[in-house]
Amino acid sequence: MENKIITQRLSLECLEKKQISLSVKRLDLTHPQIQGNKWFKLKYHLEEARKQGKKTILTLGGAYSNHLYATAAAGQSYGFQVVMIVRGEQTLPLNPVLQFAKDTNCEIIYWNREKYRRFREENSVLDKEVYGDFYFIPEGGADALGVKGCADILLETDEYEYVLGACGTGTMLVGLVISAKPDSQILGFSALKKGNFLEQEVQNLVEKYDFEENKGKPQKRASFQIITEYDFGGYAKKTAELDNFIADFYAKTQIPLEPIYTGKMLFGVLDLIEKDFFPRNSRLLALHSGGINPMYSR
Ligand SMILES: *Cc1c(COP(=O)(O)O)cnc(C)c1O
Repeated sequence: MENKIITQRLSLECLEKKQISLSVKRLDLTHPQIQGNKWFKLKYHLEEARKQGKKTILTLGGAYSNHLYATAAAGQSYGFQVVMIVRGEQTLPLNPVLQFAKDTNCEIIYWNREKYRRFREENSVLDKEVYGDFYFIPEGGADALGVKGCADILLETDEYEYVLGACGTGTMLVGLVISAKPDSQILGFSALKKGNFLEQEVQNLVEKYDFEENKGKPQKRASFQIITEYDFGGYAKKTAELDNFIADFYAKTQIPLEPIYTGKMLFGVLDLIEKDFFPRNSRLLALHSGGINPMYSR
């Protein structure tokens, strides 16, 4: 699937004015449903589940999560039964993510917020007696295999001094840091409020990776930074300004964005360009990390 990933160089007046080259790598086009960074986070898990001979994948997430949507589609494409634990009570009619999960024959289990939170905080293990013999994928695919998959996003042939991406858990960012050209810079735009904590977390995960994969030998790495100014009030919060930006961006580029991650990121990128954050003649590679599910497709 990755062979099909295209990179689009944008032609916008503001880029010409500032002499900046901005390209968008369309991870959202990998597959109509298993798209964006969720595909990269899933792919080694799917391989591992198959290797272990598992028939069922069990995972969990929020009712609107791109991860659940991608996992439902992956189950269908790769022949796994998917069991998903959804945070919160069932609400009818089902939202498009859960309707899709139902249509693809996933088993949906609802846990109230309290139970869900406790499970996460206590790093609990699910009982195979109750849930069957499953392969477990953590929320958002956020673990070492998820990182490994995200390290496949950037290719040798990509040309950039800056890589730009949206951040939730920071898993993708870790994959980018360990795979980007060492003299490049990576900016992660936090979709969460107070995303500053991600800086330390990403640093820790990169060190953990080096400890495990490179016997602790320090590697020359791309530098990275978390940008927190474009969270628009926090996760899934948005403003009319953001909606207008997304509509305007689509009109000019035909690239659909959504308001949770990619819309905020590109809003921030264009604002930083306007504020001369990047030196002239810089080549910027923005990652379209996906999220174009039925709620946001045009
Ligand atoms: C999940 C997601 C992200 C965040 O990825 P993390 O690895 O959790 O930081 C960014 N963009 C989109 C579209 C996503 O679905």
